Amino acid sequence: MEDIIKIDNNGVLSVPDNPVIPYIAGDGTGPDIWNATRLVLTNAVKTAYQDRKKIAFKEILAGEKALEKTGQWLPKETLDQIRKYRVAIKGPLTTPIGSGMKSLNVAIRQELDLYACIRPAKYIQGVPSPCNQPENIDMVIFRENTEDIYLGIEWEAGTKEAEDILSFINQKIQKKFDKNTTGIGIKTISEKKTKRLIRKAVQFAIDNKRKNVTIMHKGNIMKYTEGAFLKWGYEVGKDEFKDVIITEQEVWDKFDGKAPEGKIILKDRIADNMFQQVLLRPSEYDVIATPNLNGDYISDTLAAMVGGLGLAPGANIGDSCAVFEATHGTAPKYAGLDKVNPGSLILSGAMMLDHLGWHKASDIIHTALQKSIANKKVTYDLARQIPGSIELKCSMFAKEICSLMA
Ligand code: NAP
Repeated sequence: MEDIIKIDNNGVLSVPDNPVIPYIAGDGTGPDIWNATRLVLTNAVKTAYQDRKKIAFKEILAGEKALEKTGQWLPKETLDQIRKYRVAIKGPLTTPIGSGMKSLNVAIRQELDLYACIRPAKYIQGVPSPCNQPENIDMVIFRENTEDIYLGIEWEAGTKEAEDILSFINQKIQKKFDKNTTGIGIKTISEKKTKRLIRKAVQFAIDNKRKNVTIMHKGNIMKYTEGAFLKWGYEVGKDEFKDVIITEQEVWDKFDGKAPEGKIILKDRIADNMFQQVLLRPSEYDVIATPNLNGDYISDTLAAMVGGLGLAPGANIGDSCAVFEATHGTAPKYAGLDKVNPGSLILSGAMMLDHLGWHKASDIIHTALQKSIANKKVTYDLARQIPGSIELKCSMFAKEICSLMA
């Protein structure tokens, strides 16, 4: 009998001891980092729970392997399997170029309505960082996944559609865009999708005893999209979490700048300012909630601040399922070389264990990975920056992590 993760009407998971978890190994370096991750996850669960719990990994296809075996980049069966089993993990996938197809990763997020892209950025001792006080970096980004310019509503310059829309705009605002040489991209942001994202971010802050949630936006310029995101975000705080949330304005107006015990501060920053804030005053930021494109930029910046893409985990979570994934791409020049850092997918796997409530196994992974870095036994990306380090292959790094588990 297959042990399937169930989810109740309140979104609470019920996880059996032997859950089936589908995986997509991925393209390029995907198989290398997936094999390493699978080894680490299996050993961590065994170390934490002996034989009482065990994940039954089940392969599902997407990307180049799916194309070869089924003639499709993203078979319907793959999406159905994720829907059925609720939790999945994936390596990076090639984005087909020139076929007019959108990214497979974006397609998976949109098809499954995985609306919150969650990316933690926490400094690991010993990892080279371009920042002065990297130990102060401990942020979690909640990036909206299903709206914004990422929806791909675009028309090329010179097409009938672009011409129609430009005629409408020219009429409405008396501007004279050149109808033959102007391309069009449409940005949408809605109340419902904004509110569910902010709700998830605030709930995360409550569950994880975080101190503040910052809405990152460009509402001063894009008033009815990013400005509305900001307005709806504050409404969630005020209407749904009034017992725990206090706005930054209230903290200054009523409490002289110091938040009362037990309250979480809800604040906002304009996107360009946010970049310098995370660099110069990282300790003041905790959970960041933002529309899709801002989230894309800020999460790679934060990843660079704590050691680069090789160590940046990520999860895409909706109300009915969740997919955990490496945040970097397929790094095709290293494919099959057993070289790249599997840390991003391993840490995403640890996030997955936390999502299942298997915190002990997750903690074991974090501790063992930190020890390996402290011992200067690392993959090429870190080895080239840590003097005196020993460079390990991808698979050896995984074995080293397993040997440090206790
Ligand atoms: P990329 O695959 O992320 O690689 C860019 C660079 O990042 C690599 O050359 C390497 O830097 C570093 N890097 C990536 N993975 C690493 C790892 N595991 N360990 C250490 N360093 C790592 O980006 P890309 O070359 O722009 O994209 C390649 C393909 O991946 C494209 O088809 C793209 O569409 C796709 N992609 C997929 C995803 C996803 O599946 N979520 C995300 C982004 C891109 P060095 O050269 O300095 O060593």
